[in-house]
Amino acid sequence: MFVDYHMHTPLCGHAQGAMEEYVEEAIRKGLREIAFSDHLPFVHLPADHPWHGRYAMRMEELPGYCEAVLKLRERYPEITIKLGIEADYIPEKEKELEKLLSDYPFDFVLGSIHMIDGWPFDDPSLIDEYANRDIDDLWDRYFALFIAAARSGLFDSMAHPDLIKKFGFFPKANVQIHYEKAAQALAQAQVCLEINSSGLHKPIGEIYPSAAFLRACLARGVAVTIGSDAHKPTEVARDFPKVKELLRETGCREAALFTRRQKTLQPLTF
Ligand code: ZN
Ligand code: FE
Ligand code: FE
Ligand code: ZN
Repeated sequence: MFVDYHMHTPLCGHAQGAMEEYVEEAIRKGLREIAFSDHLPFVHLPADHPWHGRYAMRMEELPGYCEAVLKLRERYPEITIKLGIEADYIPEKEKELEKLLSDYPFDFVLGSIHMIDGWPFDDPSLIDEYANRDIDDLWDRYFALFIAAARSGLFDSMAHPDLIKKFGFFPKANVQIHYEKAAQALAQAQVCLEINSSGLHKPIGEIYPSAAFLRACLARGVAVTIGSDAHKPTEVARDFPKVKELLRETGCREAALFTRRQKTLQPLTF
């Protein structure tokens, strides 16, 4: 595998290691292209909200983040470094998101659903809240947000597409219908699906997305991006042999790359 399009930095408040260390690890592992995609500040929260510096970088850090990535490009000509960002989809703030994303020369924008009505459902410290919820309803709402995000035109690829499975809570209803509807939305909007290896190290112990979800997307011609979601330098390209295996068994033969939000498809050779 030659690319990792999902890497964080300490700016988000929950990742470790200097940006140089991520780049050097990528070079060591033989990657040809990487994208930093740290968490964009929240457009629906005030600048001094405690989630800034815990879940995402602060607004005043965003220009420096972009400059730092562009500088790394000059420092490490042996690898292609893209300026990416991971942005939470905030349904009532599409205009604000669009404006913020257009203010910087991003190559690649990952869209994420980490919250269902203000609850960061993927935060292990808030897992108790699942007991107060109906899992079928949560899955419905997660996929409704996912589909709205895909259709918003704000994002190039949807990150960890079935993040709602993180702790292994599955609905009673058949999940295939969610995968089919989500796949249809991605295909229509021409948005990519991220293959994210970090799920292997979460309670679910499985890549995001599941093979069934990936198959539904590939059947409709959805392209994929590949990312480790590294929150430490050692996690760059983590478990990519397993990603390769999944891509091989599902017949996925190319991966998407982005330059200034323009997609190109690169054949996968394995
Ligand atoms: Zn993160
Ligand atoms: Fe995320
Ligand atoms: Fe991430
Ligand atoms: Zn992420």
